[in-house]
Amino acid sequence: MALHDWTKSLVVALIANGLASPLIASPQPARDGDEKLLQQVLALLPDDKRPTVPIRFVNPREMGRTSDPGAFTLDNVPAIYVSNQTAAFDLARRGDRYALAVLASCIWHEEQHVRGRGEVDAYNAQIELVMLFVRTNRMSEARGEALVKTLRGLRSQQQLQATRAASHPR
Ligand SMILES: [Zn+2]
Repeated sequence: MALHDWTKSLVVALIANGLASPLIASPQPARDGDEKLLQQVLALLPDDKRPTVPIRFVNPREMGRTSDPGAFTLDNVPAIYVSNQTAAFDLARRGDRYALAVLASCIWHEEQHVRGRGEVDAYNAQIELVMLFVRTNRMSEARGEALVKTLRGLRSQQQLQATRAASHPR
């Protein structure tokens, strides 16, 4: 299996928080400001929550995907991929603080998979980070609460799937 965990957390969270159209129609080539953007995003992560692998900004369609998960990892590839085709990414490029924090939380989610953890643990870690962002005024309380609610919903779906898999072993 080549693909692992195309988390929908980013796109779903942005829709939940009222940012329209997660997908941008026109392809966007890498820009000069991307390195600066990456540094802005990584700067939001506490020292004990730094990714252990490189972050790559990519167009998922150019990697053969028909949908855009926002962020993802691949089995046996030491990297975290972040889509540069989402509204969040576009807003982050324009310096939107909420979008930058969302991207940071998604990278922290994917880092859990890099460290061998499953979906429930990854969502728990992401939720914990979003709550930290709210406490440290990097994200407004209203947006943070909405994002946490969305992430809890996604976590519940994963728990349900795990329960079903356990009760119907193949
Ligand atoms: Zn995940």
